Amino acid sequence: MLRITDLKLPLNHAEEALPAAIRNRLRITPRDLVRYTIARRAHDARDKMDIQLVYSVDVTLKNEAPVLARFRRDRHVNTTPDTGYRFVTKAPADYAGPRPVVVGAGPCGLFAGLILAQMGFRPIILDRGKVVRERTKDTWGLWRRSELNPESNVQFGEGGAGTFSDGKLWSQIKDPRHLGRKVLIEFVKAGAPPEILTEAHPHIGTFRLVTMVESMRRTVEALGGEYRFEHRVDDLDIAEDADGARRLRGIRLHSGEVMETGPVVFAVGHSARDTFHMLHDRGVYLEAKPFSIGVRIEHPQSWIDHARFGPCAGHPDLGAAAYSLSHHCKNGRTVYSFCMCPGGTVVAATSEVGRVATNGMSQYSRNERNANSGIVVGIDPARDYPGHPLAGIELQRHWETRAFEVGGGTYKAPAQRLGDFLAGRPSTALGSVIPSYRPGVELTDLAACLPEFAVTAMREALVAFGREIPGYDHPDAVLTGVETRTSSPIRVTRGDDFQSVNTAGLYPAGEGAGYAGGILSAAVDGIKIAEAVALALTGAAGQV
Ligand code: FAD
Repeated sequence: MLRITDLKLPLNHAEEALPAAIRNRLRITPRDLVRYTIARRAHDARDKMDIQLVYSVDVTLKNEAPVLARFRRDRHVNTTPDTGYRFVTKAPADYAGPRPVVVGAGPCGLFAGLILAQMGFRPIILDRGKVVRERTKDTWGLWRRSELNPESNVQFGEGGAGTFSDGKLWSQIKDPRHLGRKVLIEFVKAGAPPEILTEAHPHIGTFRLVTMVESMRRTVEALGGEYRFEHRVDDLDIAEDADGARRLRGIRLHSGEVMETGPVVFAVGHSARDTFHMLHDRGVYLEAKPFSIGVRIEHPQSWIDHARFGPCAGHPDLGAAAYSLSHHCKNGRTVYSFCMCPGGTVVAATSEVGRVATNGMSQYSRNERNANSGIVVGIDPARDYPGHPLAGIELQRHWETRAFEVGGGTYKAPAQRLGDFLAGRPSTALGSVIPSYRPGVELTDLAACLPEFAVTAMREALVAFGREIPGYDHPDAVLTGVETRTSSPIRVTRGDDFQSVNTAGLYPAGEGAGYAGGILSAAVDGIKIAEAVALALTGAAGQV
């Protein structure tokens, strides 16, 4: 099979235009073309008056060799890559070794558990939060009634942090083994729309994620895996040999139960601050890493659609417009858009009492009134939180507490019109843009909730973004704060064997350990970690 990439057709092209374009591109007759399938579809909206759909197509021909030879110097015509997933090993039928334990049922833990189950290792998956339906009720409890359950919320519980999200499923990671494809295929099996396999920027939306997570749990259980919810890991039992080499031999749960363990995957996400403290207290090597802080910005989605798509705004093949922005500021900081959610809502994303943190989510339809995105400033340990590996957590807590206080101490979030933010005065009234954050916002001056350098950088960047997307710096756009949990403030450093550099048997994984940023990359990391664990358990070294 051949793959043709970068095949462009106008937005409103007829169905038969695609096979015609394939024949033209390959200079073949209709009889030469046996079949084709769309491998990927994107759009190019750089020229709003002439928006193009950009296809990659897999083509079966009667006789492929001469065509491939003819196009051997053309980088857009190649043999279709083999993206199939192959297990690196499998548990022997009589496997009697330890059952691997996975801590965390977010995308990373879910895929670590799924792959281990598919390989026959019957993993035990522990999560501090509740089963997803119960968790949904608790999460809505904060949004509707200002009641936070610190163990069951947007961050904690079955499905992990990405469950109440836009469900964007793309990533910038290098993926030579096409592990992302395995993730998408498993998601489709669990109920995701099949188009995620072909769309360049697929998303699922929050409602479907809930049912998919349940379906994946049933799959893992059917393969002999086991889930234990409301099982928080509170401590580690680490043995040290005469040479000082450390090995994890057990974990203690918050109930007091002690589990003797073989390999333990730690996929606890970026908000498990108590767990990071525990790891640090137990001497597990971790280090501070850069992350970003800022606010969420909201504009009417129609403004973004018109700015991006011009007269084609609202076209069903384009959907709600997204954007990605970045600006290098005079003060040396970089401001960028983060986790943009077209047609979505800003959500309360704290997991700690007395703190406010924002994030964004959407439904599959992406048809809420506003577009929202994080507008965040990159910060780093050397400059902004030196001296202690966990100092980034304290910085996050400081500004989240500030946001809670400035918001009135009821989980309302501090918010400000963009015009007032640029002018340095508190907002007293909203304009044409109505913020979506629940349980509500308190109009104020966001400069009180962020470091000065971040405020300065964001003021400069928002004006610059207005030059890229006309209307972006409209005075009525609303900023809601604070966005602090963009990625993990720490890395639990691992070696080439995927184990902690100083504690054998502990496999740090996913976003919390600093090895992923987003649903897809966390899930891919889950696959890699499952493979490392499986190879360690079987002593196998190569591919099966
Ligand atoms: P997590 O998903 O954070 O999962 C960690 C799990 O570990 C949790 O379930 C937690 O309960 C559990 N846990 C923590 N500590 C313990 C302990 N001590 N014992 C037992 N269990 C523990 N990413 C995207 O790619 N696209 C998006 O559209 C998107 N939108 C988002 C919207 C929101 C509101 C949020 C909060 C995040 C969003 N993200 C999005 C980010 C994405 O969710 C994360 O990158 C991803 O979930 C990280 O996966 P993970 O498995 O590493 O960790």
